Amino acid sequence: MKDITRRKFCAAALAGGVAAGAGKAFGAALPATFSEAAQPQQEATRQPGPTTGKRPTIISAHNGLRHLDAGMAVLRSTGDTMDAVLAVVTPVEDDPNDNSVGYGGLPNEDGVVQLDACVMHGPTRRCGAVGAIERIKNPAKVARVIMERTNHTFIVGRGATQFAIDQGFEPMNLLTDKSRLAWLAWKASSSKDWRPGLDAPDFNKQLAELLDTPERQAWAPWIKQVVAHPPTGTINCLAVNDKGEMSGVTTTSGLAWKISGRVGDSCIIGAGLFLDQDVGGAGSTGRGEEDIKIAGGHTVVEMMRKGMSPSDACLEALHRVVHNYDFDKSRLKMFDLQFYALNKDGAYGAASLWSSSGNGQPLTYAVHDGTEAKSVPFTPLFQGTGGDY
Ligand code: ASP
Repeated sequence: MKDITRRKFCAAALAGGVAAGAGKAFGAALPATFSEAAQPQQEATRQPGPTTGKRPTIISAHNGLRHLDAGMAVLRSTGDTMDAVLAVVTPVEDDPNDNSVGYGGLPNEDGVVQLDACVMHGPTRRCGAVGAIERIKNPAKVARVIMERTNHTFIVGRGATQFAIDQGFEPMNLLTDKSRLAWLAWKASSSKDWRPGLDAPDFNKQLAELLDTPERQAWAPWIKQVVAHPPTGTINCLAVNDKGEMSGVTTTSGLAWKISGRVGDSCIIGAGLFLDQDVGGAGSTGRGEEDIKIAGGHTVVEMMRKGMSPSDACLEALHRVVHNYDFDKSRLKMFDLQFYALNKDGAYGAASLWSSSGNGQPLTYAVHDGTEAKSVPFTPLFQGTGGDY
């Protein structure tokens, strides 16, 4: 009966528009059984990662590509690796069009943007982290302040927001019009209570008003996509200067539509980020819950300590995730996870559970090894596309 109600709602609403598409896709988002998602997949051909590198080098998730030049400029001028990684991620946090990080990040199920971030500084062997912070667009900078000006390493929730305000950060509304409308569409797709009442004389008009300007109509396909397939995002960035000093950062708005207070791996030292000045650093993006279970960042660094190349160390971490699912690809196919690694000699690598994104394109990350900023394909563990479960 519920399904029929939803279908009726979808049919009535915005023919070809956001709510109809979202509703349809919402209904189809979860297969009836896990096995429906299973497709025979081939293990990817392994490309052994480089074992030698150049310094300075800086790597990041793909969304940092445009800002690696700024990070490299810092490495070349002052050589401060913490300034360098923040030079890459801060503009991504500031960017209203990046819906996975900072301002404009998609909110939790209550429509509140809660951000997670952490930093590690190799030379001083210190770290700072902030979880579920609200109304502050640069959680990575807050994590740095926790590291540099407090006796703590991790502050969460209301206390984190208050701490940031006390330290001079400006509170603001982190929801953009676009992310707010996406959240409203998600609410409408998942609860009839968030749709106009059946007695509303202008039921269709009210729904259509969600997309009532040409600009908003341009957002419709994107809104439909993020309602049906809550996106993952996040940026991890790792840097080494010419002396071999290192820093790392990971920052995110986490999973779209998450339960309030949920923190993922991005602010967990040892999961979303780990760095040991004697060895190198590693970070992660994708489904944080899987990363936390294997302490992924730490695992990658420990594998490098044992002599593995950065790419192979990342693949080893992914193997542990696969092992947690007893190699059941029907479940592994439901999510994606990526690891990034840079050692203190400047050798880098990254591996992804699946090879391609939803549009079939190979997944890539961003590297600047002194010549130019470029996109580099991950070394995938499996061929195919992971889901968004
Ligand atoms: N790892 C992030 C988290 O679980 C999400 C992401 O990378 O998209 O919060």
